Amino acid sequence: MKKNIFVLVIHGGSGTILKENMTPEKEASYLSTLERSLLTGKKILESGGSAVDAVEAAILVMEDSPLFNAGKGSVFTNDGKNEMDASIMDGKTLNAGAVSGVGKIKNPISAALKVMTNSEHVMLSGEGAEKFAELQGCALVDPSYFYTADRFEQLQMAKQSDEVMLDHSGANKKAHGNFENGGNKLGTVGAVALDIHGNLAAATSTGGMTNKRFGRIGDTPIIGAGTYANNKTCAVSCTGHGEYILRNAVAYDVSALMEYKNLSLRDAAELVVNDKLMKQNGEVGLVAVDANGNYTMAFNTPGMYRGIADSQGELKTEIYT
Ligand code: ASP
Repeated sequence: MKKNIFVLVIHGGSGTILKENMTPEKEASYLSTLERSLLTGKKILESGGSAVDAVEAAILVMEDSPLFNAGKGSVFTNDGKNEMDASIMDGKTLNAGAVSGVGKIKNPISAALKVMTNSEHVMLSGEGAEKFAELQGCALVDPSYFYTADRFEQLQMAKQSDEVMLDHSGANKKAHGNFENGGNKLGTVGAVALDIHGNLAAATSTGGMTNKRFGRIGDTPIIGAGTYANNKTCAVSCTGHGEYILRNAVAYDVSALMEYKNLSLRDAAELVVNDKLMKQNGEVGLVAVDANGNYTMAFNTPGMYRGIADSQGELKTEIYT
């Protein structure tokens, strides 16, 4: 374990993000929001704050931006609602918190953190989670707060083809392809960090998939699937087609390959994302950092909004392959 260095890696969703579908203005606003997220988390890490606080802070910036499929800007369910999922995990204690299917919590990631720190549970869902969040002082909003015209239009398109869609592309081959301006349809958000005390944390937040029904919950609030952190190995946050991430316990799989097979972080992530999931046609991406400060941003889609900031002064945001 390395001390006195820090690393923060974030993602804003992976998928069919192609430069030809992006305007320069959109691209600039994505990159600047990613950078703002990184700088917010970095400030906490450089002043000796915890990885847990840094990943929460980095995610708050993206939840509050309408650009990403989390918090404000979340995608719509089949019946025109926004149902959000979020989770967070502390690699030092292996404590974790999550909320699923919530529609009134302004920042689901903060509610997930409260579940971790102020309850004896790991996951709370729906109205119960909202009640708990309110008692914990989290801001509740009218569901109309989450409305964005872009996402609503996306729902209408998904309904026409009767598909459940990733916010950025089709969920299966039939629906695969770009929307007219597909580049602006991303994405679930996530962050992983190593703090100067040698502790790891991971967090993920999403609106899920457009046109989802029947209370569908994806990988994002499931510890071991969308999010996992363990000081012995790494911290991981996933994005992409949740059903595949769930079935493959992707975040835990990366950690387990390191723990039991001694793979490096990069090799473990490559094996899971670009071999295992690729063979199943599972569109996924992840960001991860290990206890020595090595990090990776692996994805098997044309792009992933992503960025990294560290104690060596690196500050980088990227979109395409
Ligand atoms: N993984 C998320 C879900 O399936 C979606 C995404 O990452 O865009 O709910």
